[in-house]
Amino acid sequence: MLIYENREMAYIKSFCSKCKKIVKENDDFCKSCGNRTKNIYMKLTDSFSLSEQSRSKKRKEVDGKQKVVYEQKTGDDFYHKEKSWSFINRIIDRENNIYIKFIQDKKTKKILWDIKKPLDEHIGHGSAKRKKR
Ligand SMILES: [Zn+2]
Repeated sequence: MLIYENREMAYIKSFCSKCKKIVKENDDFCKSCGNRTKNIYMKLTDSFSLSEQSRSKKRKEVDGKQKVVYEQKTGDDFYHKEKSWSFINRIIDRENNIYIKFIQDKKTKKILWDIKKPLDEHIGHGSAKRKKR
């Protein structure tokens, strides 16, 4: 579920990027064709601007548990700090130890984030830190 703090954003629907069938928000892949990339359409209720975003996730069994090993989010995103639309490309690649975050303001073209580093370095800091078993 997408929950937006200011409630300006209305979540519309997510579709399979291949066969265009509706993919549920909680599903990682399309039930019809198995494609793992979905396009998400959102709109801002006051301006009716439609935005498109695609997300993909790859899971693998690690120690008998299904874990997300690859995550990508590309497209339009609402950046709350600046209260404006931005372009986002975020990749969390646990298999190749890569973390990429690129965010650019769509209006001003200002680059807000431009990070590429080993994932374990990223996890070692701040909120992404997780307790080891
Ligand atoms: Zn499909």
